[in-house]
Amino acid sequence: MIQPMLGAISLNTRIEDLHSFKIARLGQILSRKLAAAVAHYANKASYSDATVEDLLSYLPFRYEDRSHLTTIKDLQDGSEASLELTVNLSGGYQVRNRRTAGKSRLFIFEVSAVDAGRTGRPIVVWWFVSGRHCYEIVKYYTEKLTRGTRFITFGRWDWDKRRGTYSLRLQKPADELEILQGTNSNQDETVELDPEASEENEPDPTLAAIHVGRRVPVYRKLGNFNSKRLREIIHAILENLDPLTIPETLPKELRQRLKLLDRKTALSEIHFPPKSASMHEYEIARSAAHIRMIFEDFFWLTFAIGLQRGKRIKESKPQTVKIDKAVKDTISALLPFKLTGAQKKVTVQIFNDMKSLAPMNRLLQGDVGSGKTIVALIAMVAAMQNGLQVALMAPTEILAEQHARNVKRLLAKTPFRVELLTGSLRAAEKRRLQQALSAGEINAIIGTQALIQDAVSFAKLGLIVIDEQHRFGVLQRAELRGRGLNPDVLVMTATPIPRSLAMTVYGDLDVSIIDELPPGRTPVQTKVFGEDQRQEVKRLISGEVRAGRQVYVVYPLVEESEKMDLKDATRRFEYLRDTVFPKFSVGLLHGRMKAPDKDAVMKKFIAGEIQILVSTTVIEVGVDVPNASVMIIEHAERFGLSQLHQLRGRVGRGADQSFCVLLTSDKQTLIAQERLGIMEKSSNGFVIAEKDLELRGPGELLGTRQSGVPELRIGNLVRDQPLLEIARGEAEVFLNKENSPTTVKMIEYISGGSKFGLAAVG
Ligand code: ADP
Ligand code: MG
Repeated sequence: MIQPMLGAISLNTRIEDLHSFKIARLGQILSRKLAAAVAHYANKASYSDATVEDLLSYLPFRYEDRSHLTTIKDLQDGSEASLELTVNLSGGYQVRNRRTAGKSRLFIFEVSAVDAGRTGRPIVVWWFVSGRHCYEIVKYYTEKLTRGTRFITFGRWDWDKRRGTYSLRLQKPADELEILQGTNSNQDETVELDPEASEENEPDPTLAAIHVGRRVPVYRKLGNFNSKRLREIIHAILENLDPLTIPETLPKELRQRLKLLDRKTALSEIHFPPKSASMHEYEIARSAAHIRMIFEDFFWLTFAIGLQRGKRIKESKPQTVKIDKAVKDTISALLPFKLTGAQKKVTVQIFNDMKSLAPMNRLLQGDVGSGKTIVALIAMVAAMQNGLQVALMAPTEILAEQHARNVKRLLAKTPFRVELLTGSLRAAEKRRLQQALSAGEINAIIGTQALIQDAVSFAKLGLIVIDEQHRFGVLQRAELRGRGLNPDVLVMTATPIPRSLAMTVYGDLDVSIIDELPPGRTPVQTKVFGEDQRQEVKRLISGEVRAGRQVYVVYPLVEESEKMDLKDATRRFEYLRDTVFPKFSVGLLHGRMKAPDKDAVMKKFIAGEIQILVSTTVIEVGVDVPNASVMIIEHAERFGLSQLHQLRGRVGRGADQSFCVLLTSDKQTLIAQERLGIMEKSSNGFVIAEKDLELRGPGELLGTRQSGVPELRIGNLVRDQPLLEIARGEAEVFLNKENSPTTVKMIEYISGGSKFGLAAVG
């Protein structure tokens, strides 16, 4: 076997092989453990695929400036500071509470300490100790932190009224407190202050100096490797990294123009801030190192998307769509109402796409109730008038049926044949429809996603409309093309996200926005209620039902979950039906019901036979019952804001006042107040979505974990939006010079790497 050469580490060095470089006490077993942790974080199939580059992309989540030591007399309430201290006294005491009297497993460990010059009253450093080993842990600390022991600690110091001095609460003493040994602090050895220390976390004493007297990165735990150990390992890697193996990926001209750091420097400084840098910039991810790394992330992402888009625009569909007077007249004759200005605007954008040779790939965003359906219908009619077939896909059967009902009604006087194709059809019926489709006898087919997935063949498919897209994930045009189809595609979503994010998140899509509601809508009154206010809620429901209106009651889950203590929708339904509202007709709808049963319930609700519909989130998207005026959402804190907004959009569809009640058991908590408060204040989907994005990230918001949204390791779509804009502009500059040697090289670069799997999307 060939021994790997001892020498410099490269970005492509496998983590598994790090042991051969004799750094940071990483042996073979530890290297492999680290490789496994990195592979998991970087979504690599096997630990053997984890590289040094992956580990270096694991960024600190904050930084500490341990370079300036403060004294006690200079402390202020709330100041963040490092202090070098000597223990006066330390010990743990049990925290008692009513439930666990006597056998509490919760301790507070407290250290009283002074600084070298005794510049003020002894201060207190403390932390909680709990769990199975708490007795041993307290004993361990007591033995380590004896009187006279010197240590450095960092954190936020608060004026502690009870103790009459400054105190600092540590979250992780093993990371935040360094014991110093000996008298000369320059050669100090640090000792791991972690009684549950595993071999992963055994520090390398020769690296002790990197933890104190300087600016240090703080990492979240990676596998079993704690922040301190990661700091040692990453530091050692950066020291031994061969600069020649770090290729610059951005064109020189671009780097110079935007004053971006070179890649090597950025990689190193993003972990270990240099002395001169502003710590504030590091905290908000705006250091020169951050900017360079984030820009790089975004640049290549937008470059790949732009490249893809360029390819699509050069494609041509089999037939363009003519929008002539005949088409326009047919459409005007069909419209049941006057279009809003916003609807007109997006219709023009869609028509322009349909008229052009390149296939349309457009995202139509509009708040719930903004009237996207009619716009889609207009596009469908235009395509059908041109002799093309159209497909409309909805995320659920209920929605597909609702669309089919509407479309059939609106097209009743036209010669177009509209059919509904869903999973619940009998096999023979399905076959009959499929044959009619491939024979070109059906003009519009409506169904769920299965429409495209099943081997349905069309005679002349010209347009696909996809409703509530975020449920589907990103549509793979390539997949369609693979089956010989290249239709116009219109994707609709009621999850409004800012345009630049939409482009990134949905790949190569043009975006149209309906930013205006049809006239005559009264905004829904929204209120957060606590458990103790159920009587009020009951009165509201009774009043509305007696006035002839209908009510939704939504639960987050179908089955009781012990852990989350959610009330089972089924049991609540029985309780509401039998005990609370015996005189009203109460129905139940949930995801586990068979499709025909669901339909039966939904139809009864639409017909007004069910007055109160208890449901899980199956009604979330698109259902339109204008007579419903109350939306009660149980355990509202369990839903994302965008989801709450969607649910709320089920009411307020008529002209009368509607209500949305957000019930929550923890009305008092900050989160509930902040999040649910937004719902009370705002009815603007964009504002809400932006807040949701901030609070939960794009993956959660769009349900896109599996849907092909590229994972950005460094760039953050919310925080770094301005950088995204710049990167996109720059990417375009290069893409516009597609024959220049630089651009040709860049295209080669991204086409080669699996890193830009994104190139396959769109
Ligand atoms: P969404 O954008 O949430 O899919 P819909 O297309 O279901 O919204 O439209 C919501 C309601 O508004 C429907 O009942 C629809 O008929 C009505 N609507 C749409 N556009 C207009 C308009 N321009 N004028 C009046 N009502 C409209
Ligand atoms: Mg809709």
